Amino acid sequence: MKRFTGQDRSITDKWRPATLAVRGGTMRSDFGETSEAIFMTSGYAYDNAEEAAARFRGDRPGMTYSRLQNPTTDMLEKRLALLEGAEAARATTTGMAAMSAALMSTLSAGDHLVAGRSLFGSCRVLVDTILPRFGIQTTTVDATDTDAWARARRPNTRAFFLETPSNPGLEVSDLRAIADIGHDAGALVIVDNAFASPIVQRPMDHGADIVAYSATKLMDGQGRVLAGAVLGSEKWMNDVYLAYARHTGPNLSPFNAWVVLKSLETLDLRVRRSCENALKVATFLEARMPRVLYPGLASHPQHALAMRQMAAGGTIVALFLDGGRPQAHGLLDALELIDISNNLGDSRSLMTHPASTTHYAVTAEVRDQMGITEGMLRLSIGLEDPQDLIDDLDQALRHIGL
Ligand SMILES: *Cc1c(COP(=O)(O)O)cnc(C)c1O
Repeated sequence: MKRFTGQDRSITDKWRPATLAVRGGTMRSDFGETSEAIFMTSGYAYDNAEEAAARFRGDRPGMTYSRLQNPTTDMLEKRLALLEGAEAARATTTGMAAMSAALMSTLSAGDHLVAGRSLFGSCRVLVDTILPRFGIQTTTVDATDTDAWARARRPNTRAFFLETPSNPGLEVSDLRAIADIGHDAGALVIVDNAFASPIVQRPMDHGADIVAYSATKLMDGQGRVLAGAVLGSEKWMNDVYLAYARHTGPNLSPFNAWVVLKSLETLDLRVRRSCENALKVATFLEARMPRVLYPGLASHPQHALAMRQMAAGGTIVALFLDGGRPQAHGLLDALELIDISNNLGDSRSLMTHPASTTHYAVTAEVRDQMGITEGMLRLSIGLEDPQDLIDDLDQALRHIGL
């Protein structure tokens, strides 16, 4: 296989982000295909027995088995690393595979984890229920309270885990301050960046060690595949992550890797447009409703921090209705254009009621901590004309008497 320049760091280092998104990581086969090929193969054949032995010893480059390496997945991983400014990346089957593998590979029985309390529902289950089953101690803190991270440290604290902006409460936490506290304690700082994408926020620029994604969201961005990614230093990836993941197999299939690889070519265009649309919709809603949360609005409690740390306010808006679940469900049922769906980061705008869907599995007490009320709705803004979204929300709000 010809090594196209997209894999050569001495060349890609000179490229700007828009070029990296289109050409970073690309390898071309002898056919010279312009678009990246899908290598649907589980194994690889060797010219002779010594070649096989040398690859297994690690003495010679080359692929051995698709749980360990695959050309299509490799192109995606290289492109992801370039967009994030990370040394290394690994693609996973889902976002939850990325989160669980990042945490399980890092932590052992007897270790302590501090996590933000406002997390994606399944991440909370991982922190509260699954990790403790393996003897890992966990503490959750208000992630926006920087001092709370410092107070939660213990001598055996090995990792910090947080999400900013958080799902669905849109809390924004100070990455630089939290990373400094974590590093002081000898902890690895792991950030779930699914809500922002590298276009809106690159946590490593603010001190994070590891960035993990649900690539199902903005990266695919068209609601087609489940995927995830873990990014970090070359050393952590080899010594810690792969020591676990090589043998547990959370890696992404070549077909799904190809779908995400092609989507990254338009990530910048899509995310920026969705953020512009979200700001327009949030501005409209703020004038029409009791309470709206959006990091790009001056009314957001951490607006100044958000604007320092993020390139835009993001693509998610949270709405709060006074009439509880009946009014929230009433608004959903009155929508004519926006779909009722718990997915997010899609080109279609989607709305969900977190208390009865995404955060149904966590306790009422935890929902309370996360600011999830019965009247809360989460709106993921897509790529439609923002005026059509505003018109739909306007008629649905009238329908519920607002
Ligand atoms: C969706 C999501 C996940 C889980 O990703 P999957 O691809 O659904 O497994 C994790 N964290 C956040 C913030 C998410 O939005």
